[in-house]
Amino acid sequence: MTNSQLRKARTALVIGGGVAGPVAALALRKAGIDAQVFEAYRPGTGSQGGPLGLASNGLNALSVVGADADVAAEGMPTPRMVISSGSGKVLGTIDTDPSLPVRVTLPRGRISALLQARAEAEGVPITYGKRFEGAVDTGRSVIAQFDDRTTAEADILIGADGIRSAVRGLIDPSVRPRYTGLIGLGGYIDGPAGVPPTGGDFRMVFGRRAFFGHLSDGERTGWFANLPYKRIEDADLRNTTFAEWMARMRAAFADDAGPALQILDHVTPDGFIPPSPLEDLPHVPVWCKGRIVLLGDAAHATSPSSGQGASLAAESAVELAKCLRDLPVADAFATFESRRRARVERVIAEAARTNQSKAAGPIAARFRDAFMPFFMSRFTTPEKTAWQYAHTIEWLPVRQPGIRCDAP
Ligand SMILES: Cc1cc2nc3c(=O)[nH]c(=O)nc-3n(C[C@H](O)[C@H](O)[C@H](O)COP(=O)(O)OP(=O)(O)OC[C@H]3O[C@@H](n4cnc5c(N)ncnc54)[C@H](O)[C@@H]3O)c2cc1C
Repeated sequence: MTNSQLRKARTALVIGGGVAGPVAALALRKAGIDAQVFEAYRPGTGSQGGPLGLASNGLNALSVVGADADVAAEGMPTPRMVISSGSGKVLGTIDTDPSLPVRVTLPRGRISALLQARAEAEGVPITYGKRFEGAVDTGRSVIAQFDDRTTAEADILIGADGIRSAVRGLIDPSVRPRYTGLIGLGGYIDGPAGVPPTGGDFRMVFGRRAFFGHLSDGERTGWFANLPYKRIEDADLRNTTFAEWMARMRAAFADDAGPALQILDHVTPDGFIPPSPLEDLPHVPVWCKGRIVLLGDAAHATSPSSGQGASLAAESAVELAKCLRDLPVADAFATFESRRRARVERVIAEAARTNQSKAAGPIAARFRDAFMPFFMSRFTTPEKTAWQYAHTIEWLPVRQPGIRCDAP
């Protein structure tokens, strides 16, 4: 522990401009700490992504930094999730508690774009096209190095650079994402998509061979599919053509009662997000080292099945800024971790159980379809899901130092 770690941070470098990065920068600014963000991609060059749901707890976290209205205004309100079996039987619903902000769904890439725009409007400098490559912790500051041979220096460095975090590589290179056994595909269809508006429902089907979800406001239809895949080879993902993926999905959903086949008929290569392996990080043992800390997916990636990754990233960003506002660097990092770890790992574990249901074989699927109505009627009520969706973060003083973060 150096003397300078016993002082509060006044400046921060934030690596990654996805969700956690811009929210952290906004919250740090609110806390009186100057933050600048470095994002590897230039605006408009990445994919827009498939549908991403921002839950009530995520919107609550965004409200602390005044970014909730932008996201809510552009997203499709999605107060209810309706879960059915491949035979068409409704297995259960998950309703937003009317006292909470209504879940919204929008393309993944749009959330980042809106948060980046909000951060820039509030005066946060974001440098695009700048890929972080390494850092030197001098004990008094951190110097980040980028792929264009430039450097930047600040009191602390925050790794908000996603599930394959390069910053995490400096803390513990042995941590690797875990493959869930599923791949995800999806996209948006503008105009008719062969299905009626879903009236605020996000409809999901545990099909006989794969999982399908969609929502539609009549003008735009968002959809995604999760297909079980035993082993995932990058070459297989890269070399399989659009037509082949469509054929594989049609075969996977051929015997299901849901609308997958009608929707797939309207998918074009332009609006198609190619498949990616669904992964998580069930337990990242060390979140910080010296003046460097991990945030969002870099520290606690949940698989998309939770519908919580972006919401948790926003929550963590606000919590970290609060801790840094009130505590010296080492205590702030440790207190941040102690306030977040149990919650995020619980969400990650629940999503992993959902993934097992999505990849169920025929016998397990029959068991699932028989017992899920009982399970959902008891455990997905607003009272039972309040720990997840009703979580709020008050912008109040943080006074409880955690264990100091001096991990090797
Ligand atoms: C298919 C899919 C569906 C999902 N659906 C949902 C959902 O419905 N609801 C939900 O809440 N979550 C969902 N998620 C998860 C959600 O997208 C993530 O949890 C969330 O984006 C995490 O935010 P983040 O800022 O930590 O990471 P990211 O959003 O991944 O942002 C990391 C950023 O860092 C940048 N970066 C990476 N490396 C570097 C580098 N070396 N230098 C500079 N910049 C770098 C990246 O370009 C990126 O912009 C889904 C994820 C996937 C894959």
